[in-house]
This record gives sequence, C-alpha cells and structure tokens, in this order.
Amino acid sequence: MPELPEVETVRFGLNQTTLGREIEGGEVLLPRTIAYPETPTKFLSALKHLAFADWHRRGKYLLAKLSDHSWLGVHLRMTGSLLWCDRSDPVHKHTRVRLFLAQGKELRFNDQRTFGQMWLVPPETAPEQVITGLQKLGMEPFDPAFTPDHLAHKLSKSDRPIKNALLDQSIVAGIGNIYADESLFLSRIHPQQLASQLTNQQVKLLQAAIVKVLRDGIAHGGTTFSDFQDVAGDKGNYLDSAWVFRRTGQACRVCQTTIERIKLAGRSTHFCPNCQKHLAR
Ligand SMILES: [Zn+2]
Repeated sequence: MPELPEVETVRFGLNQTTLGREIEGGEVLLPRTIAYPETPTKFLSALKHLAFADWHRRGKYLLAKLSDHSWLGVHLRMTGSLLWCDRSDPVHKHTRVRLFLAQGKELRFNDQRTFGQMWLVPPETAPEQVITGLQKLGMEPFDPAFTPDHLAHKLSKSDRPIKNALLDQSIVAGIGNIYADESLFLSRIHPQQLASQLTNQQVKLLQAAIVKVLRDGIAHGGTTFSDFQDVAGDKGNYLDSAWVFRRTGQACRVCQTTIERIKLAGRSTHFCPNCQKHLAR
C-alpha cells in the first residue's frame, strides 16, 4: 500500500506534469471508483474545462486544487497509481478512470484491487466535508508541531501494541506497514510493546525515527513493492536499503541476529529480536 513517501512522490510528479493543463473530458471505466458526486457523469461534467492549479497531500490523500477552487481528491489505497501518459497509449486492463488533458495528454488512474477512490469537492466546500476520512487524520509528521511531546500525548491514550498504534491514521497521518516497521527498528522498540507504556526516551527516539524514515523514503522515490509507480511509471528503490521490512530470515544489518516476522493488526511485522527488546515498564 502506498504510504506517505510514495504519495509524496506521486504529488511531486503531478506538480511537474499537470499544472495549468485543462481537462477536456474523460472516461470512467469503473463507476464505484468515483466516491463523489453520485454518478460518473456528474463527476466528469464538473471537471470539464477546469485546469490543475496545485497538488497537495494530506496523510495518504492527494488533493488537487482546480482552477475554479474545487478540489479533486484521490486515495490510492492498496494498488492505485496515477500515470501521466499520452491519450493514445493502450488502455491497461486495470485502468479505472481516464482524464483527457490538453495537447493529447492524459492522467490515468490504474488500480488492480479497486479499493482506490476519487472525489470532486465543489467550490466553496472544505475537502473534509466531502472526503470524510480527512476529518480523522492525525498530525502530519513533517509539521513542526509533531514533537515528542505531541506523540507521547497521542500514545498515552492507546493500550495497543505500538505497531498497531502507528498504523492508526488518527495518531500520525501517512505511516503504513513499511515505515512503521522501519521506524520501530531505528528507535529500538519492540513492535508488541504497549504504546501507552513507552518511556519518554523511547518516544523521543521514535518521533525522530518516523521523520527520518519518511524523509529517506521520499529521497529514494518511494518503495519498490506491489504495484507502486510514480507518475512516469518508474519504481522507487527504498526496499534495497530497508532495515527490517521484508527481510525475514536475513541477518540484522546492525547485529547479525536473524530478522523475525510476527502478525500484528493483521499485518506482517518485521523486527530484530536483539536490537528491539521488549521492555516491561
Ligand atoms: Zn539487530
């Protein structure tokens, strides 16, 4: 699933390609991809003749400001990708939505698992009124107000394992399975330790680790996993340098202990049992 660094990579690519381009029309191949308005016809007619002004990101949501101050919201979910291509390029079997832009270009939404969604938020309407998932999001990890104290306050109310808490978008926005495992390794925290029982020192290390792994992920152009692609169809390379994610059975890069895998919150969780000791408080 694309996480903050992947979505940020897509946002960057969209700002380099789509800005100022007028939407001349489009085609919705899978109607349920459009979460709002009610029908694909209304969605496409509202977009017609608008141009992309700027792409923003909030958590794992992409939000395009359009020329009439309406917003196009996109969530890639498990396997969605936005591709910048030519209208004449052959349509893929997983293509769900096509937006035809000026000069024969196209913004194409491909999504194998079909959980991805799009919203058209009318002008003068706040995006969170239509895209209700935005209301529940916690703080952005790159916000200067995302401090150890802030994180400690959020975690103090959570009696779940820290791994589960990090996947909760209301605690920190944008983290998913990869960057949760990586940030826990960097801060030497066992994934099953209860969030509310982390020491102040552990929270301080974790806050710094979260910011670091997300920045590193962006610097590497996102991760090479599932179907993630940037807007040009290129894949990232973060996993070549992952500390623990998908390294089960391999040697820890720090201490050579074998990396283990357990299931938490239904997700594979990778950790080094030597570097990440389960501390009872
Ligand atoms: Zn280790």
